[in-house]
Amino acid sequence: NVRVRFAPSPTGPLHIGGVRTALFNYLFAKKHNGTFVLRIEDTDQNRYVEGAEDYIVKSLEWCGIPFDEGQGKNEKFGPYRQSERKHLYKEYADRLIAEGKAYYAFDTAEELDFHRKDHEAKGKTFIYNWHNRLKLSNSLSLSEDEVNAKLEAGDDYVIRFKSPQDETLHLKDIIRGDIKIDTNILDDKVLFKADGMPTYHLANIVDDHLMEITHVIRGEEWLPSLALHIQLYDAFGWEAPEFAHLPLILKPTGKGKLSKRDGDKLGFPVFPLEWKDPNTEDVSRGYKEDGYFPEAVVNFLAFLGWNPGTEQEIFSLENLTQAFDLAKVNKAGARFDPDKTKWFNHHYMQEQDNYDLAVAFKNSKTELSEIDTQYIELAIGLIKERATFVSDFWDLSHFFFVTPTEYDEKSAKKAWKEDSLDLMKELILVIESVDDFTVENLQTVIKGWITSNNIGFGKVMMPLRLALVGALQGPDVFDIIYMIGKNETVQRIQNLIN
Ligand code: GLU
Repeated sequence: NVRVRFAPSPTGPLHIGGVRTALFNYLFAKKHNGTFVLRIEDTDQNRYVEGAEDYIVKSLEWCGIPFDEGQGKNEKFGPYRQSERKHLYKEYADRLIAEGKAYYAFDTAEELDFHRKDHEAKGKTFIYNWHNRLKLSNSLSLSEDEVNAKLEAGDDYVIRFKSPQDETLHLKDIIRGDIKIDTNILDDKVLFKADGMPTYHLANIVDDHLMEITHVIRGEEWLPSLALHIQLYDAFGWEAPEFAHLPLILKPTGKGKLSKRDGDKLGFPVFPLEWKDPNTEDVSRGYKEDGYFPEAVVNFLAFLGWNPGTEQEIFSLENLTQAFDLAKVNKAGARFDPDKTKWFNHHYMQEQDNYDLAVAFKNSKTELSEIDTQYIELAIGLIKERATFVSDFWDLSHFFFVTPTEYDEKSAKKAWKEDSLDLMKELILVIESVDDFTVENLQTVIKGWITSNNIGFGKVMMPLRLALVGALQGPDVFDIIYMIGKNETVQRIQNLIN
């Protein structure tokens, strides 16, 4: 029974790397008929940001990858906020102390700093482990009486994990295979802090165990913690879940990790939804507000580190669920390509319901407020193959809604010839003669008139298009005529020749 979790810390808006982690967890869960748990890791109170948890939940919902289990939903293993579980962790830390697998440490920040600098001065790195621990202030270096005295006096302490000397750990990662770690490079990580809160490491392991998590899928930045985590499972005598560390997401240049600030610099969003920082009031743009469809965001995120091994690029969430395979995820960093995201959006634009698009378009443009939504819907059907965003619609379709008031100079030069005036006058009569005003009839009559008089197609079509659109662009001329109607068409040709 597969159980995975997405365990973000609410320290700010979820960036797309986080959403990718959530997505891969979701896909893995769905593929195996498992459960996707959302756990909020908010033990670091200093970094807590108001609104971040809500943002996370809303982002998952917008992407269409909601959690199955979490705060307020199927709370079998709740609470799902670590701050509400804080009473749980101390007993586990105490258990490791009782078994000699962890110890109290009383060193002050100043003392630790001193040791660090002292080592540095000698060209060495200070590691708090068997190398140094006996020279420091902790329950392994002090006598039992000294330790008890400190505890009774209420001195600040942390609880550290006792990392073994001269051992080789054999770690397994679904994506990276076998990893060997020499324990001598590990430090005795803090499990429990002076403020009475567990560190990420302890809370994470305890909760993954209590919540019966079977697979941990998370970002590469947590790979260095894997050795400690595996040792903690061993120390508690628990079976460890399987691990998969997802590759980094790289800047569009391929050099360096994509950062939260890259979006502003390069002009693309790195957050799913717009985020307003509660302290600075700074606003960061989001995919949603920038006009991306969730299907496009999900599809492009899926390809950040994974591919199906075929040429296929378009995958709905359902297709992804079937095709996704953790073993096919790459180790190498995945380059983020904003243009590809647009390409996906263009694709999914074509699959959107035109009526829904019309409503969105209408709401975005005051010029459309009086126009019938169904008419807008028809216009969208004619132009959307060239649109990537709803915000492209106006440029592609304004002539369906408003009469051109000016003509593009270059187009006019190209379209207008000596005989254009006469031809347009005649064309008005031809159009007025069409009674049954359908696209088909218009085509037959106008084309018939052109061929029987040997006029040449461009001579009519170019000035006509100029009159209707104001430039030599746009969809099929007959569709435009049909849409705007006989009177408006005649009026526009008249405007041009006047
Ligand atoms: N709270 C960690 C984070 O913010 C979770 C890491 C993990 O999944 O173990 O990414």
